[in-house]
Amino acid sequence: MNVQKFGGTSVGTPSNMHHVSKIVNDGSRKVVVLSAMSGTTNALVEISDRLKSSNLEMAAEMGIMLHKKYTQVVEELLTSKEYKEKANKYIAKEFEEITNLIDKGYSLETENILLSKGELLSTHLVYFYQKQEGYSVALIPALEFMCINEEGEPQIELIRERIRPFMDQTKDVSIVITQGFICRDHEGKVSNLKRGGSDYSASLIGAAVDADMIEIWTDIDGMHNNDPRYVEGTAPIRQLSFDEAAELAYFGAKILHPFCIFPAQEFNIPVLLKNTMEPTAEGTFISKKIVSRGFKAVAAKDNITAIKIKSSRMLMAYGFLRKVFEIFDRHRTPIDMITTSEVAVSLTIDNDSELAAIVAEIETFASVEIDANQTIICIVGNVMADEMGMAEVVTNALKTIPIRMISYGGSEHNISLLINGEYKTQALNLLHQHLFKA
Ligand code: ASP
Ligand code: MG
Repeated sequence: MNVQKFGGTSVGTPSNMHHVSKIVNDGSRKVVVLSAMSGTTNALVEISDRLKSSNLEMAAEMGIMLHKKYTQVVEELLTSKEYKEKANKYIAKEFEEITNLIDKGYSLETENILLSKGELLSTHLVYFYQKQEGYSVALIPALEFMCINEEGEPQIELIRERIRPFMDQTKDVSIVITQGFICRDHEGKVSNLKRGGSDYSASLIGAAVDADMIEIWTDIDGMHNNDPRYVEGTAPIRQLSFDEAAELAYFGAKILHPFCIFPAQEFNIPVLLKNTMEPTAEGTFISKKIVSRGFKAVAAKDNITAIKIKSSRMLMAYGFLRKVFEIFDRHRTPIDMITTSEVAVSLTIDNDSELAAIVAEIETFASVEIDANQTIICIVGNVMADEMGMAEVVTNALKTIPIRMISYGGSEHNISLLINGEYKTQALNLLHQHLFKA
């Protein structure tokens, strides 16, 4: 059995919902995980922001606009009187709750309930449509089985236990629809897996039901070998290993949520990236298999801050790095790249919310220099350190660009470089010419 996840664009209009329904209705049993219709989660976030700034009137107005949009969607999606009535009743109930929430004003609980509505609406509408069409379909509630702990981490064993009765109850049904993104926290309150988290839902569900494959359907034909927003002539990558895909997803390939790879990798379930608008295109197949040597893709991650820490006390001393890392640890700030010399260490972070406090602590024993607006360029592939000339090809390609840091040899599947953000487009294009066009 496969899990098939469809993103916001894939269910973004009534006609796309019709189209997705055809794709999933191929007779085989599957779990279908849906995002909210594109734009809806953003609209809900905006409503919540208005509540936060005590602009209840504006929030209420936006709620009414969104309700109108969904009334229109029902009108175009469904043809039968029976299902139109059911769907209108359902959206009326949800928007009544949204109105009540708005009246109460802001709280984190309100925000989380508001944000859960997008996936609840999209799944119910697609379910009603497929029922109308006579498909073998069921809807199971993610809020009854998706759960996270106090740290916000999904509880895979608990999810497995809780989803089982729903899978048993629907064992004669082909299409089992559920919501991406939403879950409950350790206190049972409505929560979510953070923005873009539907991919993560799909792979957690895949792991929980021992799926044969996790299919992520979006609006592009797989992961590309470079960023199509900055480089012309990029091409989809046919096969990637879990490690390569995780690296690419983290370092900028927008197509996949980076966490999505971990459950798939842990339970060894292949992930297939497919294009909803072009279902026959091959897409990208991600599995534990390492295929072909050499470079596969380039990605970039912006808004990186580089921190250079210098101290003569580092010379021949042990315990220095531990002292530095403990500070980042205490401030819950992940480090992405590190390079060291005998008297200095440079590292990068992408979340600078604690930067001032971190710097203040380090300055008690070392000098600190900060460079903002840096970009990590990540080159992924089977770039084994024992193969000659891999790093040379990369540095050669970038010989006209100042490189601030290089990280090579940390793994067999990536070389990372730090450059000033202003050189990003140039760097991506140069690498494209040298790595993929030569
Ligand atoms: N609807 C959520 C979002 O827009 C989750 C997702 O689509 O992955 O972030
Ligand atoms: Mg997404």
